[in-house]
Amino acid sequence: MSELKLPTYADVVAASERIAGHAHRTPVATSRTANEELGAEVFFKCENLQRMGAFKFRGGYNALARFDDVQRRAGVVAFSSGNHAQAIALSARLMGIPATIIMPHDAPASKVAATRGYGAEVVLYDRYTEDREQIGRDLASKHGLTLIPPYDHPDVIAGQGTAAKELFEEVGHLDALFVCLGGGGLLSGSALSARAISPSTKIYGVEPEAGNDGQQSFRSGSIVHIDTPKTIADGAQTQHLGNLTFPIIQRDVDDILTVSDEQLRAEMRFFAARMKMVVEPTGCLGFAAARAMKEQLRGKRVGVIISGGNVDIERYAALLAP
Ligand SMILES: *Cc1c(COP(=O)(O)O)cnc(C)c1O
Repeated sequence: MSELKLPTYADVVAASERIAGHAHRTPVATSRTANEELGAEVFFKCENLQRMGAFKFRGGYNALARFDDVQRRAGVVAFSSGNHAQAIALSARLMGIPATIIMPHDAPASKVAATRGYGAEVVLYDRYTEDREQIGRDLASKHGLTLIPPYDHPDVIAGQGTAAKELFEEVGHLDALFVCLGGGGLLSGSALSARAISPSTKIYGVEPEAGNDGQQSFRSGSIVHIDTPKTIADGAQTQHLGNLTFPIIQRDVDDILTVSDEQLRAEMRFFAARMKMVVEPTGCLGFAAARAMKEQLRGKRVGVIISGGNVDIERYAALLAP
């Protein structure tokens, strides 16, 4: 294998120019209750209010905006448990690019419907027995499509880094930044922005307890693969970090933490009751970990990226029920 060229903060800056006027510059919310409960000043970057409901629009749009004419005509293929699918489907529609999306058969119905609604062709597979990456590669080579993976791609990472860039631009220095972690696109992109703009910020990636491959990888120094974890955080059911995301995380991130599904449900209730926001389970990872670390965060300025808000309404109601 040749040496990998990792994206840099300059790529994040270029991405922010490409997505300007297309992605929302999402609001930064604060909550007196959150501040009181943590004894800290907490700034929430609300990517649940991003177009299509998650930060993934940033990376998807940035990646497609870099296609040449031949790639645009042939189309894009993507595999995703949900939000990346919608990000690619919507971005492709906005640019007039045909899109094929490979989704797990048990993906939330709202995510499958939204992806079809954006005009993409959806191919379903069994996430416990089939290899989505192989299916994606096969389709790509057969029809000349360009495969855009959900996290391990320089343009995707650079696009995801624009959320943290905006957060720092808006609130200035932060002592700590908590970022949801699946395959590491959001975390590695956020780390590029944090290290460039606010170098002393402690950066934490947060995973579901049942799927702590990132923590194992971070601590062991090489990418650990796990079986698809069973967790309510469906956006973080990834089996391994990427060849691009892992070295950035190793270099720039301070630690990787885990939280339980019960903690995620408690934060879903917090966001609903106190901040009047629908946040999907995966989107609660960052704040759940911050709350668990509150002794160390007392008096500090804390950033939390709320990564998404896409959850079926019936499932949402069931998860909120005590
Ligand atoms: C994809 C996703 C994540 C995880 O992002 P990675 O870049 O894979 O680490 C977290 N939250 C939500 C809502 C997502 O859609």
